[in-house]
Amino acid sequence: MKKWIAGLALAGLVGIGGAHAQTYLGFRLLDFGGLYVRWGGSSSEPVVVTYAFADREVAFDDARNCGSMVPVGDMLAHSGISKTAFFEEVRTAFDMWERVANIRFEAAADGAKPGILIGAQADPVGYAYADVKYVKDGTGTTRQIDRSLICLNPMKRWKVGFDGNLAVYDLRYTIAHEIGHAIGLDHPEPHGQLMSMRYQESFRSLQAGDVSGAVRIYGERMVR
Ligand SMILES: [Zn+2]
Repeated sequence: MKKWIAGLALAGLVGIGGAHAQTYLGFRLLDFGGLYVRWGGSSSEPVVVTYAFADREVAFDDARNCGSMVPVGDMLAHSGISKTAFFEEVRTAFDMWERVANIRFEAAADGAKPGILIGAQADPVGYAYADVKYVKDGTGTTRQIDRSLICLNPMKRWKVGFDGNLAVYDLRYTIAHEIGHAIGLDHPEPHGQLMSMRYQESFRSLQAGDVSGAVRIYGERMVR
């Protein structure tokens, strides 16, 4: 029985009461000691979040889980997966969330600081993590996300698609799960959602609770 390593230990340790209150909804919001997080303000315009891939070793002293990241090339080579296939899986994972909620994801311009940075762990541990940094200042109970990191363990084997082997994770499923964290969602209980803690291969798309969670934070998708 494989479990997602608790990638957001801080969020996982607080707000237990809230977690139980939200269990019925099939989702759980990241809860930083009573503060929830989201990208952008509360305007009705779709929030646009940029993303990029680590193109060199980068360190984040303030990151709990993805403190040092390297490009994904060696990781993909180790699993026999092409970069083209990887980028397609990542884009498909972003599209899953984009289709259901009022949030958009765009590749960051060259040299621009991305909202979400994706890479391989320099110090491999677990399977995959997300790390969310939010703006401390603000009023009320919601804070704006400043930066999210998604890091994968390059020593694990990865795959594209399901084959029943729960020791080798599907990239699309894994990235979509970590994107859920990167936009403000935690693990609901007990399982049955893509955001659930345990890796499973019975579905490869967002489930009802995942959709409800994204809509709770960003609103329903608006057609431009
Ligand atoms: Zn997780």
